[in-house]
Amino acid sequence: MEESRGNVFDIQRYSIHDGDGIRTVIFLKGCPLRCRWCSNPESQSGGPQLFYSQSRCIRCLSCVKASADGEITADGREPVIHWLKCGGETALKLAEACPADALLIKGREMTIEEVMQVIRRDRMFYERSGGGVTLSGGEPLLQPDFAKGLLKACRQEGFSTAVETTGHVPWENISGILPFTDLFLYDFKSPDPDIHRDWTGVDNKRILQNLQQLKTAGANIHVRIPVIPGMNDQPETLRKMAGMLDRLGIGTRSLLPFHQYGSGKYRSCGMAYSMEEVQPLPETRMAELEEVFAGTSPGLGMPAV
Ligand code: SF4
Ligand code: SF4
Repeated sequence: MEESRGNVFDIQRYSIHDGDGIRTVIFLKGCPLRCRWCSNPESQSGGPQLFYSQSRCIRCLSCVKASADGEITADGREPVIHWLKCGGETALKLAEACPADALLIKGREMTIEEVMQVIRRDRMFYERSGGGVTLSGGEPLLQPDFAKGLLKACRQEGFSTAVETTGHVPWENISGILPFTDLFLYDFKSPDPDIHRDWTGVDNKRILQNLQQLKTAGANIHVRIPVIPGMNDQPETLRKMAGMLDRLGIGTRSLLPFHQYGSGKYRSCGMAYSMEEVQPLPETRMAELEEVFAGTSPGLGMPAV
């Protein structure tokens, strides 16, 4: 067993949305993108991060007493967190001072063996459902040695493996895990480099290059497209994306609807969320876009092509 350590911010058991069957999803911290719609804002920074749960707070103000430099102050019985002062070691100290687990740390160092101990608990579910283990994030391939060691350990114990990736990493980080990865769940967000940069902070050049190389290398790839209102929810955009995937020879792909499940986490992390007012697309609209994407409809009032 390799001794590499990784920064893990969550482990979800019994997941059915991240590959075949019942899966354990290991969420690794750190992401090179800053998608406006991100539902895991606590995943983005690489280090440990303070996370405040208002519903758990018992207003004891122990955190205020532990704030030597005014990191948390009081407004009546309410703690007021000054986020810019709450990084690194300070975050750990504040979380320790909270008796109610209202202040938590997202992201902790784990060894591969520690993660494997959690994974092994669900061996029976993987075997019965055809499931396994999925690495997610953030971007799991920002921790390439840890990801590789974990995938290798899973394979050695007979667990099927999947990796969710943005594709925005050096090719070596991807090629290194190829021999140990049964399925790549690969994000594709916009066909236009400028729009991609505007909505995610990076353009799509490296993502498309890596996708092409991954296909050439013979990997099993499922491309997933988050359908984001205002970014790529136009029929012509999705038709263009389908055409690009056709040319790459990638037939396994799906659309993921925009949702607001992560909006509350922004407040918990002291981060700004710019999509609070954006409504998820109605199911009927998503169904129409699915048809366009699948090539079975000329598309929502657009002229036939
Ligand atoms: S790639 Fe995923 S984890 Fe990273 S910012 Fe975008 S939505 Fe969030
Ligand atoms: S220590 Fe925890 S429970 Fe007490 S006020 Fe601070 S956040 Fe709330």
